[in-house]
Amino acid sequence: MKRIYSIKTMQKTARRLKASEKKIGFVPTMGYLHDGHLGLVRYSLQHCSVTVVSIFVNPAQFAPNEDLKNYPRDMKRDLKLLRELGVDYVFTPEPDSMYTKSFKTYVSVEKITGSAEGKSRPTHFRGVTTIVAKLLNIVQPDVIFLGQKDIQQAIILRKMTDELNFPVKVSIRPTAREKDGLAMSSRNVYLNKGERETALSLYSALTTAKIEIKSGLKDVSKIKNRMKKSFEKFPGAELEYIYFADSSDFSPVKRVIPDMVIALAAKVGRTRLIDNIIISPRSK
Ligand code: AMP
Repeated sequence: MKRIYSIKTMQKTARRLKASEKKIGFVPTMGYLHDGHLGLVRYSLQHCSVTVVSIFVNPAQFAPNEDLKNYPRDMKRDLKLLRELGVDYVFTPEPDSMYTKSFKTYVSVEKITGSAEGKSRPTHFRGVTTIVAKLLNIVQPDVIFLGQKDIQQAIILRKMTDELNFPVKVSIRPTAREKDGLAMSSRNVYLNKGERETALSLYSALTTAKIEIKSGLKDVSKIKNRMKKSFEKFPGAELEYIYFADSSDFSPVKRVIPDMVIALAAKVGRTRLIDNIIISPRSK
C-alpha cells in the first residue's frame, strides 16, 4: 500500500493508472475507520482493479460550534487496517494543501441541501460537495463508493456528479450496523455506556416506522407520531428531526411511496447521531 500526501502525486498516479486502463475505485473517508468504512473498501477491492481510500477530516463541513477539533483520529490504526485489506493507495493530504489561505471556490447543490441535515447544519453540505469535487479531480476514480448511512449526502453527491458531468459512477452501499442495530459511526466512540444504550433510540424509531408501514399505515404524519412515541422510551435522547423523502431526489413526501427514505437525527448526551432506512416497494 502506498501512502500519498501530495495532490500532484495523487493526480499523476491517477493519470498513470488510467493510461493503463485500470478501473479506479475510490472511498473517501474522514478516518477513524470502522466496519462501515471497511465494507465500502472491501466492495471496491472486489469490483475495481485499483482502490484508493482518502483520509481527510474536512474542516469545510464542520460549523465553528461543531466537533472538528475533537473529531476522533487514529491514522496509525487506519493505515494498518487498510494495509491488511490490500488497499492500493491511501491519500492523506494536509488541510493547508486542500484549502490554501486564499481559498475562495465552493460547490453548492441547491434546494435538497436545505432540508433534514441541511436544516440542522446549514453550511455542512457546501463543505461536503466542495471537498468531494476536489477529491474527484485529484483521484479521478471510475467509481466512488458512498454509504447509505449518510443518505442525504449520497443523494446530493449523485446530483452534483450528474449535473457537473463528473465522469464517475456513484455507488451507494448499505449501512453497516452493530449487532443490536446501531449504525456504525466514528462518533459512536463519544458515547458512554448509558448513552450507548440510549443511542438505540434511532434504530428503534426506524424499526417502528417499518412495522407500521408493513401493517398498512400510509400517512407520514401518523408514522412520525408513532416514531416520536418510540423515542419517548429513551429519556436521554433528544430528537432533532424525522424526515420522509423520495430516495431519487430527497424531496419530502406526505404519504408512503416505494423507495422512500426515512431519515432522522438525535442528540444523545453531547453526541449527534443520524440514521435512516429505505423502505423498498417489497417491504411495504
Ligand atoms: P465518514 O468518515 O463519516 O465521512 O464516512 C466516509 C464514508 O463511509 C461515507 O460515504 C459514509 O456514508 C460511509 N459510512 C459511514 N458509516 C457507515 C456505515 N455504518 N455503513 C456504511 N457506510 C458508512
